[in-house]
Amino acid sequence: MQLSTVARTTESSAIRDLLRHAERPDVLSLAGGLPAAARFPAAAVAEAAGTVLARGDGLQYGLSEGDVRLRELLTDGDPGAVVITTGSQQALDLIARVLLDPGDTVVVGDPCYVGARQVLGAAQANLVGVAVDGDGLDVGELADRLDEGLRPTFVYVVTNFDNPSGAVLAVERRERLAALADRFDFLIVEDDPYGALRYEGEPVADIPGDRVLRLRSTSKTLVPGFRVGWVSGPQWVIDAIVIAKQAVDLHTSTVSQAIVAELLGRPGWFDAHVAGLRPWYAAQRDALVAALHTHIPAAEFRAPTGGMFVWLRLAGVDASALLGEALDAGVAFVPGAAFAVERDLTDHLRLSFATVAADDLDEAMRRLAGVVPPG
Ligand code: PMP
Repeated sequence: MQLSTVARTTESSAIRDLLRHAERPDVLSLAGGLPAAARFPAAAVAEAAGTVLARGDGLQYGLSEGDVRLRELLTDGDPGAVVITTGSQQALDLIARVLLDPGDTVVVGDPCYVGARQVLGAAQANLVGVAVDGDGLDVGELADRLDEGLRPTFVYVVTNFDNPSGAVLAVERRERLAALADRFDFLIVEDDPYGALRYEGEPVADIPGDRVLRLRSTSKTLVPGFRVGWVSGPQWVIDAIVIAKQAVDLHTSTVSQAIVAELLGRPGWFDAHVAGLRPWYAAQRDALVAALHTHIPAAEFRAPTGGMFVWLRLAGVDASALLGEALDAGVAFVPGAAFAVERDLTDHLRLSFATVAADDLDEAMRRLAGVVPPG
């Protein structure tokens, strides 16, 4: 008797094991990607939950594609084109199930969101990592590799305030990526859980075209506990996703969907809630950036214009080795190697400014500075 090949070959990483210590109460953890619990609209959620349950909604089994009312709210009236998923994480998993055979090629950014790497690894995809710079995925490098014969089934990209790089994919790159998808016959998976958390500048238009699977989530703007995300895109893929989802979990929690629909159905409520989040997260970002300038002037980074992460480089430092000492000093981060696909990102770190109180971010960077070797 033994586990499947995939289960046997998927190991808990050394970094994940170390990060278990980040839960200690004496550690200021900038490692997790958790949204700020202090900003959860707890009173509105409790009241909406009471209203929904008093009506007896959300207690029965539901459709695999999701609650009709919620889908209408999310699509401005065309519910056919969208499936509600158990977080956008499940959308990624379902996409891998319906599009990939073992060995199929998928292009991702390098660094790449760890949850995407896990899904694609379980699907036994052949991962190709394309560089990421301040304007997001380097679509020029992708074009060169396509010219050299690379043939991906899809390209996965976090378009706004990428995890971990914080970058926004530039509009010219979005257009060029769509043109490449047409020319080389691949799909694009546009993962955008952070887009609403923009702290300055104007939103950038989504990737154009009809080859795009669009993943969205309520996790970062409402609460992650509901596990409500959604995916829209080409009908043939959406149809296959609905069938795959039947087998996986029948449907996303009906009570979660009903509460989210109750809140989103209140005119202006969601926009006002997110409008309140933005300046709060912007102040968090400003506090971390100021603390970095004060305590670790050698850190190389671009201050992100949204999202939750600062991605920084400490030239010559092995961030994985540094993590143990940092934990002893009472601060945690995620070393760049955790996000690496093909590149050596050992001298990079991801810091989240979402979870630790602004007042503690200065102390966190003071602690980190104490263990960074002098440059
Ligand atoms: N994509 C990205 C880029 C993320 O950072 C996350 C959450 N960390 C997810 C997807 C998954 O989010 P959820 O399943 O909560 O919607």
